[in-house]
Amino acid sequence: MKTHPVIIVGAGPAGIGTAALLSRCAIPSLVLERGRIGESFLQWPKETRFISPSFTGNFFGAVDLNAVTPGSSPAFRLQTEHPLGRQYAQYLSDVTDYYELEIEEDIEVLDVEIEPSGKILLSTYEGELRTRVLIWAGGEFQFKKAIPGTIRVSESYKTLPTGRHVVIGGAESGIETAYNLVKNGSSVSIIDPTEPWAHEVSDSSYGLSPYTFARVRYLQKSGKAEFISEFAETISETEVRTRYRTINLEHPPIDATGFDIENSLASKLFDFPNGYPQLTDRDESTKHKNVYLVGPNVQHEKAIFCFIYKFRQRFAVVVSEILRRWGQQSPVIADYADKGFLLDDLSCCDGECVC
Ligand SMILES: Cc1cc2nc3c(=O)[nH]c(=O)nc-3n(C[C@H](O)[C@H](O)[C@H](O)COP(=O)(O)OP(=O)(O)OC[C@H]3O[C@@H](n4cnc5c(N)ncnc54)[C@H](O)[C@@H]3O)c2cc1C
Repeated sequence: MKTHPVIIVGAGPAGIGTAALLSRCAIPSLVLERGRIGESFLQWPKETRFISPSFTGNFFGAVDLNAVTPGSSPAFRLQTEHPLGRQYAQYLSDVTDYYELEIEEDIEVLDVEIEPSGKILLSTYEGELRTRVLIWAGGEFQFKKAIPGTIRVSESYKTLPTGRHVVIGGAESGIETAYNLVKNGSSVSIIDPTEPWAHEVSDSSYGLSPYTFARVRYLQKSGKAEFISEFAETISETEVRTRYRTINLEHPPIDATGFDIENSLASKLFDFPNGYPQLTDRDESTKHKNVYLVGPNVQHEKAIFCFIYKFRQRFAVVVSEILRRWGQQSPVIADYADKGFLLDDLSCCDGECVC
């Protein structure tokens, strides 16, 4: 069995972006993907678009917010500002081709073992692979929280019958669901005790994006949306109960409460003392040496890297640490820093916009 220098699990923006940087630093990596490149985006409902806008600002020092490398731009490639999921998957495939990345699709990593030698053994249905460094880029979208009695929207909002709907969760996905339901002729109750629609915060990890606030305003004007700032205490086939009210159901409630990566292999690779993976300041697991995390679950105290424009700034942190341990250097890391693709001083992530 050959030992690969680096294996990355997951061919989403985190996995592809990290593989592209490794390739530019002359470190070969193998990406294993259980579906297709950009699988999570291919599973988005047909109507779902990016909320963070894409724009071709690269040459004036403002790299497209949704780019995973400093020299690419989904806006330029796709000629749209808010890409659909399948469009963004196409962009990821193009980045893969451009950097000639080695990606094996339809290979699911089923288990990971750390051998006494420190090498890392991955099991798949097709056999075992060994690596010196494992980068977990398995994401969160495919590991959903599941509230019994609720449904999730896949395919398209148009597959939902019109009528009165209840959406549990009022963050980005909940508002997107409510917006599409109302557009398709339904009315909707959105239940969330944290009432994200009522708070304006300048860090998008803690509040709704401007794109979603525009949808909140649309819902408020429509007269067909009710915002309930309470916890859904019980959910049965016929009703949802909060502390102060009972909502009779015409259709099963829709779950928009987010994801839980502890439902993935990440639970074996990282400790989760506070509900998110515990990492060193180089984004290495505190549980296993040479196991790194890239993607939206990277979190350091108040800094949450849950958007592409945020977590892409940690690819170079991981790659420079791998280079350092192998006694190597690459000018590409400085180039990433110049382009705003390296954030290792987190003291900046603590301020609010002044206006
Ligand atoms: C509706 C919606 C809208 C969003 N809009 C935006 C936005 O506008 N801007 C933004 O920045 N972010 C947005 N996000 C978040 C963004 O999609 C995620 O942060 C991003 O996809 C995370 O990238 P990733 O590569 O870590 O994970 P993913 O894109 O989920 O990729 C992980 C990959 O790993 C694979 N995988 C998982 N487990 C295994 C395994 N065991 N073996 C092999 N392969 C495996 C999966 O198949 C998947 O392809 C949105 C998310 C949603 C749900």
